[in-house]
Amino acid sequence: MQESAAGTTDAPDEVAEKSRADAHPDQAFGSDPLAVRESDHYAEEYNEGFVDKWDELIDWKGRYESEGSFFVDLLRKHGVESVLDAATGTGFHSVRMLEAGFDTTSVDGAAEMLAKAFENGKEYGDYVLKVVHSDWRWLSKDVQGKYDAIVCLGNSFTHLFDENDRRKALAEFYAVLKHDGILIIDQRNYDSILDDGFSSKHTYYYCGDQVSAEPEYVDDGLARFRYEFPDGSLYHLNMFPLRKNYLRRLLREVGFQKVDTYGDFQEAYGNDNAPDFFVHVATKE
Ligand code: SAM
Repeated sequence: MQESAAGTTDAPDEVAEKSRADAHPDQAFGSDPLAVRESDHYAEEYNEGFVDKWDELIDWKGRYESEGSFFVDLLRKHGVESVLDAATGTGFHSVRMLEAGFDTTSVDGAAEMLAKAFENGKEYGDYVLKVVHSDWRWLSKDVQGKYDAIVCLGNSFTHLFDENDRRKALAEFYAVLKHDGILIIDQRNYDSILDDGFSSKHTYYYCGDQVSAEPEYVDDGLARFRYEFPDGSLYHLNMFPLRKNYLRRLLREVGFQKVDTYGDFQEAYGNDNAPDFFVHVATKE
């Protein structure tokens, strides 16, 4: 039996059948959505319809309040001037960093996301985003120069399903950082979901309260999240359930010297099950 997000114990076949029936036709999950475990699939998942919905999902105002100045303070503490937002999405952090005065470059592998981010930059502060369409695995081919910091936020890194892809992406991040650069990368607390099941407490901290976001199916190789919007539309994202210590280990193995991990923005976060999100700060020196 597979423990589904809501703590039910539907058989995998039933979950698969429901997932197939519910899948949005534009997201190209095919006849077996639970078998889609590919690092390249993200661009199809973030299609125009879902991208338009994403800002409803992430609720800029609520997110601004719950994150506060956490990332800006971290960047300032490390003397950062130039930042590469590797997973720009619709631009929330790019705009936040431009507002705080950082020289910001906005990267994403999904063209639809970058188009929306560019629009949002104009709307929220009249910023002209410097956008670069690039996949992390080939980042150094597409971006110029080196950066003081890279941020990869919003549980984005879990779109990579293959360990080689994860190593390649981290090595590319390492390569485009200056010799004393830092990488800030976050992730959902998948350990807690894998080991203890999903509880309704674990909603995305950055979701608006109008949108429900829950894992519909989880096993060691897949966390399939379901996003339901007030107008009845339904989208999915297939992600890899990254364990916290595994990601910390990979960061060390690609060359980062030190990795500090925060739980829900706190340095002292109690036991590992408590936080919804972890933020890793990896330094080259
Ligand atoms: N950081 C934004 C936020 O927090 O709202 C967006 C998060 S969204 C969950 C993940 C983003 O990562 C998407 O915009 C997606 O296109 C991008 N992404 C996923 N895999 C990628 C890859 N291999 N290369 C570049 N971008 C990727």
